[in-house]
Amino acid sequence: MRVLLVEDEVLLARTVRRGLVAEGFSVDLAHDGDEGFFLAREHRYDVLVVDLMLPGRNGYEVCRDLRAAGVWTPVLVLTAKDGEYDQVDAFDLGADDYLTKPFSFPVLVARLRALQRRGAPERPVVLRAGDLELDPGSRRVVRAGTPVELTAREFALLEFLMRHPDEVVAKAQILESVWDPHVQNDPNVVEVYVRYLRRKIDVPFARHAIQTVRGAGYRLAADGG
Ligand code: CA
Repeated sequence: MRVLLVEDEVLLARTVRRGLVAEGFSVDLAHDGDEGFFLAREHRYDVLVVDLMLPGRNGYEVCRDLRAAGVWTPVLVLTAKDGEYDQVDAFDLGADDYLTKPFSFPVLVARLRALQRRGAPERPVVLRAGDLELDPGSRRVVRAGTPVELTAREFALLEFLMRHPDEVVAKAQILESVWDPHVQNDPNVVEVYVRYLRRKIDVPFARHAIQTVRGAGYRLAADGG
């Protein structure tokens, strides 16, 4: 089994590699997120082990950017014990499993074998709301057969709304899921981005997919508005 380990703590990385090699794994190392991303994109690995806190791209960004680039290799994320991040975030960003540091080596080996057996995750299904389509795999959005160009943030916001069709989602909930949970953001930023999105997916098509629910938040009409 070929594994890429992306870990900036060099000693830990080497120790883990030595152990995995002894178990019959073939292991490449990357010591920052950018190198990890490029290696994972260019080579075929069975499993990626990615630390969350990394120089360059962090573990989340590595996962997200790989998925956006169409790389679906299973990812096991390593999180620090005090974890500001939690597993839910990791899963949201396309990780398949996680381990909290310090971890036991046999547990790591067992998890890697399980991930290999499971194989690459399915390419996510295209989300649909009426004639509005969003493909998380290719990162394309189409309205009534017309491709719509969105920025990364607009795309993330629309994806979040489309994963909760006909549900009222609060601004705070959106902020937490679509923006960096580490940065204190003004909730008004959500309003601003909803406006941008409407100008791209609703207004030109005379639709109202994104509805404002006064005092509560927003709702994406399951029929596309
Ligand atoms: Ca680290």
